[in-house]
Amino acid sequence: MPFRTRYTGLIDRYRDRLPVHDDTRIISLGEGNTPLIRLNNIPRIVGKEVDIYVKYEGLNPTGSFKDRGMTMAVTKAVEEGSKAIICASTGNTSAAAAAYAARAGITAFVLIPDGKIAMGKLAQAMMHGSVVIQIKGNFDDGMRLVKEVADQAPVTIVNSINPYRLQGQKTAAFEIVEELGRAPDYHCLPVGNAGNITAHWIGYCEYSSASGDHVTEACTFCKGHCKYAGGAVVGNRPKMIGYQAAGSAPFMRGAMVDDPETVATAIRIGHPQSWDSAWKVKEESGGWFDECTDAEILAAQKLLAEKEGVFCEPASATSLAGALRDIQTGKIPEGSSIVCTLTGHGLKDPDTAIAQSTRPLVNVEAKLDQVKRAILDNM
Ligand SMILES: *Cc1c(COP(=O)(O)O)cnc(C)c1O
Repeated sequence: MPFRTRYTGLIDRYRDRLPVHDDTRIISLGEGNTPLIRLNNIPRIVGKEVDIYVKYEGLNPTGSFKDRGMTMAVTKAVEEGSKAIICASTGNTSAAAAAYAARAGITAFVLIPDGKIAMGKLAQAMMHGSVVIQIKGNFDDGMRLVKEVADQAPVTIVNSINPYRLQGQKTAAFEIVEELGRAPDYHCLPVGNAGNITAHWIGYCEYSSASGDHVTEACTFCKGHCKYAGGAVVGNRPKMIGYQAAGSAPFMRGAMVDDPETVATAIRIGHPQSWDSAWKVKEESGGWFDECTDAEILAAQKLLAEKEGVFCEPASATSLAGALRDIQTGKIPEGSSIVCTLTGHGLKDPDTAIAQSTRPLVNVEAKLDQVKRAILDNM
């Protein structure tokens, strides 16, 4: 490895494990390399001996993990000569698609559910100059339309059904193993389309095998895009736990949900695109699915912000909400190391944050005595 001080994104960093060539033009905004923060205060509050780390994916360039997949998907779309990309989105995919398309100099079309995406995400899609198409329907309707229109127009789909997305996203698992020196015992993720939980499993499998090989004999996850095939498992792999929002939990119902509803709009998805692979991930890893109510999700979001100084969006807090419950019941035993992925930044959705904040604003005249009073009253 040549000595480098400048971080230039995850494709450069993991080039030998990703489907790129030496002369591929990389479309990057410096994504990846996000902090793995050990929680100091919350384990004390719950009174359990556990090591909980949060992987703060909100610190990617557009504020969510979607950038990991988008750098790969857009790089390959450009390499294949595509002039336009398209996606359906609950918000973060559209923000990432818009930014990486701008970077590449191509057009992004994004289909979003009318009125059901967080304000910050809409601002991003608009600001980066994508064509925003609001549909009177939900994400699942948008996804169906995107698949249909891509058959008839020269546009590349950059939803997670694009296999390059998962290749980019698997690098989060690489970073975690490198930082901890091993895989955690449990890895908890919020689940919408279930692309990310699948991508993490691909990453852990590759990393745990003897020479960076993919361990699954016939890899049904990567659709032929892994650089390596076959090989023995030598390292440990985590149990993968997928948490869904209760109003939007097809993996708990064991069937698709037609009218998903939750405050966690990023995972308001009733027809997950990676349905089969997510079930396989659960089985292979020995993990499970569970659901959290909106109240539990918002409580975990607030706890993290108030007790650890980490601000994530509601959907992201689903991973911690579920983990805390499973730690309390002992389903995740004491002594375990746990990574919770915080998929997106809290600033994406200021409306939900302000609506649930319980500390009232203190209003005073611009006078010393009133400010002093306000301080003494609130010490
Ligand atoms: C996309 C997204 C998810 C869900 O990821 P899937 O791969 O669809 O399961 C969760 N949280 C946030 C913030 C997201 O943007």
